[in-house]
Amino acid sequence: MSQESLKTVVTRIAPSPTGDPHVGTAYMSLFDYVFAKQQGGKFILRIEDTDQKRYNPESEQRVIDALKWLGLAPDESPEIGGPNAPYRQTERLELYQKYANQLLESGHAYRAFETQEELEQIREDMQKSGLGQGYDGRAKRLSKEESDKRAASGEAFVIRLATPTEGETLIKDALRGEVRIPNSEVPDAVLMKSDGIPTYHLAVVVDDHVMGVTHVVRGEEWLPTAPVHVLLYQTFGWQEPVWIHMPLLKNADGKKLSKRRDDSSLDSYKEQGIVAEALLNYLATMGWSMPDGREFFSLKDMIKQFKFERISLGGSVFDMKRLRHYNAHYLREVLDLETVAERAKPFFEAAGYSWKDEDYLLDVIDVLLPRIETLAELTEQSAYFFSDSFNYTEEAKRKLEAGQKHLEALERELSRLDFFDFDDVDDALREYVKSESVKMGEVMMPLRAALTGSTQAPGVSDLAVILGKSRTLERIGRAISYLEAGLPDDKPQKPKKDDEAGATP
Ligand code: GLU
Repeated sequence: MSQESLKTVVTRIAPSPTGDPHVGTAYMSLFDYVFAKQQGGKFILRIEDTDQKRYNPESEQRVIDALKWLGLAPDESPEIGGPNAPYRQTERLELYQKYANQLLESGHAYRAFETQEELEQIREDMQKSGLGQGYDGRAKRLSKEESDKRAASGEAFVIRLATPTEGETLIKDALRGEVRIPNSEVPDAVLMKSDGIPTYHLAVVVDDHVMGVTHVVRGEEWLPTAPVHVLLYQTFGWQEPVWIHMPLLKNADGKKLSKRRDDSSLDSYKEQGIVAEALLNYLATMGWSMPDGREFFSLKDMIKQFKFERISLGGSVFDMKRLRHYNAHYLREVLDLETVAERAKPFFEAAGYSWKDEDYLLDVIDVLLPRIETLAELTEQSAYFFSDSFNYTEEAKRKLEAGQKHLEALERELSRLDFFDFDDVDDALREYVKSESVKMGEVMMPLRAALTGSTQAPGVSDLAVILGKSRTLERIGRAISYLEAGLPDDKPQKPKKDDEAGATP
């Protein structure tokens, strides 16, 4: 890629606004962004909205928001504008019309007047006689006069690329070397539809050229149609960009990660409380690796070390479990506690939690971090820190029952403490366990159940200290009243999940 280094590097992400922002868009954007930044170049966001049937009006904003969330800020976009504005293809229709007309005039494209039914018939006939699928190029044989006349009379037509029938088209892919496709296999692709809206093929080539895109980084699903694009560059006499067809992200079955089948929406990851840094790091390891093999690295480090040459082509399996593993690492080891708290706040607020004291929030998060992998889990598991009216799980009820006498004793012991910091509480609990000659768990489990409603929670001394003396005693007292009111509970609530069933104490 050294011959390109004299030009300013320009990359682009060109999503079609059709639905949920897809992880594939983040994947391509990451490599676009990293390479552009490394080369002192530009990264453009262009919205390819020429497919009006699949157009979804909210989708553009969601892509913009997703890139912001990821921290992959484009240098030019529909939102911030730029020297190549507009950045929505439907606002650039005149440009495509101009180039389509140019191709018509030079004989590199032709009008085709077939109706939908005729096209279907042609397709069927071709299939029957083993000539492949698509279109047989018959309208190419219309004389210029006839074509002009029919167009002037108002007959609907599309404009198709007149692909050479002989020879081959060479795609110089930076990852795959030379890919040769016989021209007989390249269709006379439609460039302009009958409503004057271009297809992806024409629009992408025109825009990449006029926007000065030097490196087209996109998924390998576009490789089969790349000859159409290469032929267009050649026909216009434009310099081709460097083609980089990236391996696809796959699901566990080895199939392309799909919007319908797989959890592949960026919004969904965000809602689950995946942090952007972790997602980027994980995506960076999909088909690429650091020269020193490090698993965890920042975007900055990637920018320093990145080379397309280190991409491997197999395609990587995108595994939610691995993503969560990366996320846990970022939450526990990379981001500082204040940053995690900032990220967690919107989740807590959405759950209706409130807190007066910032330190309380930090303590809660700190004690739960080793037990959670996402911010959504953090929210779920921290509920008892923000509300006193939690339910007891079935397991917790059993532990309370078994430990009633310890709870009564501990209520007395703990109420005697003048100081309620970790050491005081911990010593008091240990001494009690020793004096009773019982196992630690026999005391801690009922206490944990009393403080949290659950048996799955952090260490009891930590819990008690974070909750504070009065709330700790209150919760123990409430558990005792609950036990005194008589078990089993006479108003059981509908169980939610296995261990979450409960009754209000
Ligand atoms: N609009 C295409 C898409 O939705 C862009 C493909 C390309 O990058 O050329 O993926």
